[in-house]
Amino acid sequence: MNILVLNCGSSSVKYQLIDTEDNKALAKGMVSRIGMSESLLLHKPFDRPGVKLTKEILDHIVAIENVVNILLSPENGVIKDKSEISAIGHRVVHGGEKFSDSALITPEIMEKIKECIDLAPLHNPHNIRGINACEKILPKIPQVAVFDTAFHQRMPKVAYIYGIPYILYKKYEIRRYGFHGTSHFFVSRRAAELLGKSLFQLKMITCHLGNGASMAAIKEGISVDTTMGFTPLEGLLMGTRCGDLDPAIILHIIAREELSLHEANTLLNKHSGMQGISGISSDMKDIIEECEKGNRGAQLAFDLYCYRIKKYIGAYAACMGGLDALIFTAGIGENSPLVRKKSCEGLEFLGVEIDDKKNEEAVGKEGEISTINSKVKVFAILTNEELVIASDTERIVEEAKTAKVMHKGV
Ligand code: ADP
Repeated sequence: MNILVLNCGSSSVKYQLIDTEDNKALAKGMVSRIGMSESLLLHKPFDRPGVKLTKEILDHIVAIENVVNILLSPENGVIKDKSEISAIGHRVVHGGEKFSDSALITPEIMEKIKECIDLAPLHNPHNIRGINACEKILPKIPQVAVFDTAFHQRMPKVAYIYGIPYILYKKYEIRRYGFHGTSHFFVSRRAAELLGKSLFQLKMITCHLGNGASMAAIKEGISVDTTMGFTPLEGLLMGTRCGDLDPAIILHIIAREELSLHEANTLLNKHSGMQGISGISSDMKDIIEECEKGNRGAQLAFDLYCYRIKKYIGAYAACMGGLDALIFTAGIGENSPLVRKKSCEGLEFLGVEIDDKKNEEAVGKEGEISTINSKVKVFAILTNEELVIASDTERIVEEAKTAKVMHKGV
């Protein structure tokens, strides 16, 4: 089955056409600067060099039309007819408490996704725009929503309830949701494969360290706790997000600096994290380069970044009553031996021992990075969220077909 995987943001659409027969991306690319001057289409077929086109792309409909056209084009395309796309899988950021699994798009499901807009006003509206655009451009092709939050929906109540009046949970659904679910799901399954063990035997901690970063405690295959919360702001220090913070600080800054709610939100989401501490960059590569030059701000940002990861490894090992595997993934987790080493420093008492040589070698590729004697196995694993979206889409579409046949049979 060829599945078109779409990740629609405010001004961008990332896409991959995945053949689920052999889990291969036939083409991938991105439309950026939607609605701005000189929108950009980057496209890479699996067997030919990539192309870069500058166009005027005013909205998501035109963006997805361009994606479909280039997938069909004789020079850069990989299919001959729209009918070769069997289904479309959309990344949808927030599924609230309504979705603990992916869902086939129907008018009822769209209503439920719209009800989640309040929880993710910056993300869900663009995901919805993408689904509506596909309905117009590829009307007969089934669509599936795959939620960032769904994998964390089986967390126990102690992990997701905050210490504020319970009525606010009931009234506004204020609770921990967690994000990056497809990535935590993918790398935990891959680690179990690498260990040759059943998920039901394993206690794992997964560290998704990209521009946004989160960790998850995964016991018997289920996410039992995660660092991101009601929004993706909580938990680890990130590129520009603060992570864990005493909530009174926000009230204090708003009063002292006379900030509006919007300004306070921008401060915590866009000007904090490594960017805010170092005053240099939100990008880990830059931070490491500056550390090497002896920059103290960058060093503090780096140390704080790794310290928080270590703190959560300890916390989650305690929550699960042990630890069998620790997994690093996403841009920083896959590519920075230094972050991995520093985050695990001093954890020998837990049974975590990093093999320096293996750690240095696992850059941009999968590898076990712990010593032979390490009780806890540590891995660098390349995440593949698009593949999870594609296989979930295939599963949901097949289930829907079976249900239809059975219904007819009755
Ligand atoms: P996103 O969350 O936007 O998908 P990525 O997963 O691509 O982000 O991660 C981006 C982060 O990965 C950036 O901070 C970048 O500096 C970092 N990164 C990429 N390569 C390296 C590297 N070789 N060493 C350290 N950090 C790296």
